[in-house]
Amino acid sequence: MASWEPCPQCGSSKVRSMGMAFWLLMGLCVISFGLIITLFIPFIGIPMMGFGVLFMLISPFTKGTLQCQDCKKAWKPAKIISTQ
Ligand SMILES: [Zn+2]
Repeated sequence: MASWEPCPQCGSSKVRSMGMAFWLLMGLCVISFGLIITLFIPFIGIPMMGFGVLFMLISPFTKGTLQCQDCKKAWKPAKIISTQ
């Protein structure tokens, strides 16, 4: 059973969970993209890789973050129903 609640901003139930895997993948994407850019523009690519590492570092703390697919609002649910 997933832990989610309707969007607090628009009341939509089209809500998706942005869990740890999302941020890990995001971090990996940004790091690999940054690596390619570093070959051409190092002063942009290196900070990008830094951001990628940051995404991966914060991923364990973002567990349970929800995002509304209608208004794109991201928030943390007040009560976590799931105990997994
Ligand atoms: Zn919404």
